[in-house]
Amino acid sequence: MSDYSSFRFATRAIHAGQTPDPVTGAIMTPVYQSSTYAQSSPGVIKGNYDYSRSANPTRTALEANLASLEKAQHGICFASGCAALSAVIHLLNQGDHVIFNDDVYGGSFRLFDQIFQRYGISYTQVDMTDLTALKQAFTPATRLVWLETPTNPTLKIADITAIAEIARQHQTMLAVDNTFATPWLQNPLELGADIVCHSTTKYMGGHSDIIGGALMVNDSSLSERLHYIQNAVGAIPAPMDCFLLLRSTKTLHIRMQRHCENAMIIAQFLENHSAVEQVIYPGLTSHPQHATALKQMRGFGGMIACYLKGNIKISRQFLENIRLFSLAESLGGVESLIEHPAIMTHASIPDLQRKKLGISDNFIRLSVGIEDVEDLREDLDQTLNRLLIPPSS
Ligand SMILES: *Cc1c(COP(=O)(O)O)cnc(C)c1O
Repeated sequence: MSDYSSFRFATRAIHAGQTPDPVTGAIMTPVYQSSTYAQSSPGVIKGNYDYSRSANPTRTALEANLASLEKAQHGICFASGCAALSAVIHLLNQGDHVIFNDDVYGGSFRLFDQIFQRYGISYTQVDMTDLTALKQAFTPATRLVWLETPTNPTLKIADITAIAEIARQHQTMLAVDNTFATPWLQNPLELGADIVCHSTTKYMGGHSDIIGGALMVNDSSLSERLHYIQNAVGAIPAPMDCFLLLRSTKTLHIRMQRHCENAMIIAQFLENHSAVEQVIYPGLTSHPQHATALKQMRGFGGMIACYLKGNIKISRQFLENIRLFSLAESLGGVESLIEHPAIMTHASIPDLQRKKLGISDNFIRLSVGIEDVEDLREDLDQTLNRLLIPPSS
């Protein structure tokens, strides 16, 4: 396979991991829809493949492509982002302790809290923007820091370089969930992380048509252990999903550019609208960690959060009437989505914790798509303006 590591992002996105099919010359990597592979003599395999849980050619191409995007040596793909996180936790032993964000993705929280805690893996949650709190959370048993930045849904930005240094001092592995940023905006391995995790369901896939996950690492022995877990546990992606994801990453840089441009325009528009109380977007100077975002990100992404002026009735009215933003969970697709975290994505978080995090009844999350930004702005403007009219008139 050709080495594309000396090329820039857009070139790697389109070419890395892929060569024309040796049999037919097909430009696109075939969907190798086969579970098993013929052997010439017992135990003698023709290529690198004997059974598709262990390895599949379409998946191999995808793993090389994704690794290249994070400038990593190794990529390991999974059936979902949660399966990828699960593989990281499978590196741990009974009695080990993990530290992760206080506002970690709900599915990640559930995995630590409801599944792995039962196997004797304990955890502490901290606000990762507070490095003193992070340092205090370490115990002699801490083996993993699981870091999300930007966080979901309040878009807090944590300093990856500083946290990598703290983790190193405690001889603890740092894994960064890079789902919101994507490798186009942020490369945690270059900032000192040991593992990067993606829910490829989101921006990497970008078309809201697949569920997938991936891990990227530089360390060869860590890669071997994760490949072992991938095969042993078996949460692998199907060849067709690998193919779709390979097609998606070819346009990641173009999509992310437009997501960032559109989101910046929408964030500024919302910040100046009289029906909106507050806007949270890492690209706005009003964002509390704007300086950290500038330091470690090349752009600010497509996610915006905001507080409307009003209560749950206002939120409902807004979400029921907006047209171009579909009311749905998930994010990162080419189409704009909008949601109400308190009722939808973050309903499983206890009331008190939700309040502490600022996930209130007037709190809205937007995944800004790549439609024409003028249409998105007009849609928001018309829907917001109607909120300002008292219901009696
Ligand atoms: C969606 C998401 C996940 C989980 O990924 P799935 O593909 O849904 O399993 C993990 N982390 C973040 C930040 C996410 O947004």
